Amino acid sequence: MNFSAPPPLNPWTTHSVEVVDVVPEILGVATYQLRFTDPLVRAAYSCVPGQFNMLYLPGVGEAAVSVSGHDVAGDAWLHTVRTAGGVTQTLAGLGIGGNLALRGPFGTSWPVERFPGSDIVFVAGGIGLAPLRPAVEWALDHGDRLGRITLLYGARSPGTVLFASQFDAWRDRGLCIDVTVDRSDPGWLGRVGVVTLLVDRLRPLAPENTILLTCGPEVMMRYVARAALDRGLSAEQIWVSLERNMQCAVGFCGHCQLGPAFICKDGPVFPYDRMAPYLNTEDL
Ligand SMILES: Cc1cc2nc3c(=O)[nH]c(=O)nc-3n(C[C@H](O)[C@H](O)[C@H](O)COP(=O)(O)OP(=O)(O)OC[C@H]3O[C@@H](n4cnc5c(N)ncnc54)[C@H](O)[C@@H]3O)c2cc1C
Repeated sequence: MNFSAPPPLNPWTTHSVEVVDVVPEILGVATYQLRFTDPLVRAAYSCVPGQFNMLYLPGVGEAAVSVSGHDVAGDAWLHTVRTAGGVTQTLAGLGIGGNLALRGPFGTSWPVERFPGSDIVFVAGGIGLAPLRPAVEWALDHGDRLGRITLLYGARSPGTVLFASQFDAWRDRGLCIDVTVDRSDPGWLGRVGVVTLLVDRLRPLAPENTILLTCGPEVMMRYVARAALDRGLSAEQIWVSLERNMQCAVGFCGHCQLGPAFICKDGPVFPYDRMAPYLNTEDL
C-alpha cells in the first residue's frame, strides 16, 4: 500500500468481492482477504493507510471496516473484523468462496509520509492495531526516510494480542515493539498495565522530532494523548483515528458528525488538536 491518491471509484456503487481467505486472529476476530470479482474494478481500486471500506451484506446491512493490509500480489484487501452484530456475524458465517459487496475507499490517511526524518510512535489498543498496520508496514518499507519507529501495544490479556505472530518479523525489520496487557496469565513474562505507561517510559524520545499515531478505544487515545503532551509533544504532533456510527460514508447523512467534522470524510484520521474538545461526545 502506498500514498498515491486513490482513483475515483463511485462512492455510492458497491462492487462484488469474494472472500479468498480467512485468518482467525484472536477470539472473535478474523482477517478476511477480499478480492473484487470484476478485474477492471480490481485494477482500479487503491487505498492509503488509514482508510476504510463499507462492507455490504445483502439483506443485512453495511458496516465500516478499516483496511488492515493487502495480499502479496496486491490485488486482495485485508479487513480485520471483530464479530459484533448483524453485518460482522454474517461475514463470519460466509467462509472462503463467499460473496459480499464493498464500496470505498473512504476517509483520510495516517500522515507518516508527511514527516520525513521523524521518529514515529504508533500506539495501539486491542483491535486498533488493525487500522494502523498498513501505516506500520509503510514506515518499515520506508525506514530510510524516517527516524526510529516504535510500536507500543496494549491488549486486555496475553491471548488477545493481535498480530502477535508478526511481531518477530517486524522486529527484524527494525520496529521497536513494547507490549503490555491489562491482566497477565501464568505464562506471560511481559509487562502488565495500561498502554499509557509505555508512553511514559518511552526512551529515547526527542519530542520536537516525533509524531505519535494512535488507534484504539477512545478513552485510551485520550490518555495516550495526555501522556504524549506530558512528554513534550505538541497536540499537532499527535494523530488519532475515530469511530462513530456510520451510514453513507460520504458526509451526506450526518450520522457520524462529531462537532464540526464528519468522521467519514474529514476523518477517520485526525490531528488530535482538531478533535480533542469533542472526544467525550457519544454517538448520535
Ligand atoms: C471508520 C471506521 C472503521 C472501522 N474499522 C473497523 C475494523 O477495522 N474492524 C472492526 O471490527 N470494526 C471496525 N469498525 C466498527 C464497525 O463498523 C462496527 O462495529 C459495526 O457496527 C459492525 O456492524 P454490525 O452490523 O456487525 O454490528 P452492529 O449491529 O452495528 O453493532 C453491534 C454493537 O456494536 C456497537 N457499535 C456499532 N458501531 C460501533 C462503533 N463504531 N464503535 C463501537 N461500537 C459500535 C453497537 O452499538 C452494537 O452494540 C469501524 C468503524 C468505523 C466508523
